[in-house]
Amino acid sequence: MPTVITASPTSGSGIEENGIVPKSERDTQHDRVLQMLDEAEAVCSTTFLAEYIPRAGARIWDLRQEGYVIETRRCRQHKHRTRQIEYRLLARPGQPRQTEMALT
Ligand SMILES: [Zn+2]
Repeated sequence: MPTVITASPTSGSGIEENGIVPKSERDTQHDRVLQMLDEAEAVCSTTFLAEYIPRAGARIWDLRQEGYVIETRRCRQHKHRTRQIEYRLLARPGQPRQTEMALT
């Protein structure tokens, strides 16, 4: 009786077994930053740090280049001893900017 090898050979196609193409760290952080902005009213820079995204500022810049409207302002969530910035997602690409959102 011949031995049938059921293990699939490594194809070397660059695609993982689950069909997901591995993303670069930059893309992963980009998506994570966007998700966090989407879920919260505002996201503090220290919150990004806590989520291991030290380059959040660069990712915010990338998102702005893509057409996202993101406001930066002094953090109002925490009582920092130093000046910290928080980010707010105001509008997505192709979406009219909501200028009437006065939350001051
Ligand atoms: Zn804060």
